[in-house]
Amino acid sequence: MAPRVGVLALQGDFREHLEAFTRIGADAIAVRTTTELDSVDAIVIPGGESTTIAKLARNFGLFEPLQAKISAGLPAFGTCAGLILLANRLIDGIEGQETLGGLNVTVQRNAFGNQLDSFEVDLAFEGINGSVHAAFIRAPLIVETGDAEVLSKLADGRVVAVKQGNILGIAFHPEVTGEDRVHELFWNEFVK
Ligand code: GLN
Repeated sequence: MAPRVGVLALQGDFREHLEAFTRIGADAIAVRTTTELDSVDAIVIPGGESTTIAKLARNFGLFEPLQAKISAGLPAFGTCAGLILLANRLIDGIEGQETLGGLNVTVQRNAFGNQLDSFEVDLAFEGINGSVHAAFIRAPLIVETGDAEVLSKLADGRVVAVKQGNILGIAFHPEVTGEDRVHELFWNEFVK
């Protein structure tokens, strides 16, 4: 069977992810049920609000199935809130905030504060030629990378993208700037 990627479609910018995968010719579907989850070869956790996505995942009965599949090796790609959800450890989460985990890193939520709450920047990204145009929107940072491989940093050295096993986590949103090469990298290296 041809590979297919699922985008968790409970809250956040899942439509933009589906459009990005469609633009690169990948088969992508929205995931809201365990049946849909069972039909995909990889999962994307979109940007949005990590606390809301976690709660909705619980309400839709998807939290534990997602956790089990990701820890069993289902390829996963998280952007922004999705990165937060894939982190094993969280700083500045709300009281009791749960994550799915998978990346053995520490992520700090809303790490840029109010003053620099949104910005766009061109970044070098391991495995992609030329710079990647990245939108940061109330973004997190990866403040402890453990044994994960660092794929991208800001000019000041702060880490904004990592890879560990089958999991890719990035602090920004390529899907809102029409930057499809991170999706291409995930599709080609993690899914196909
Ligand atoms: N600040 C959001 C959160 O904590 C993430 C923002 C985003 O995904 N753009 O979930």
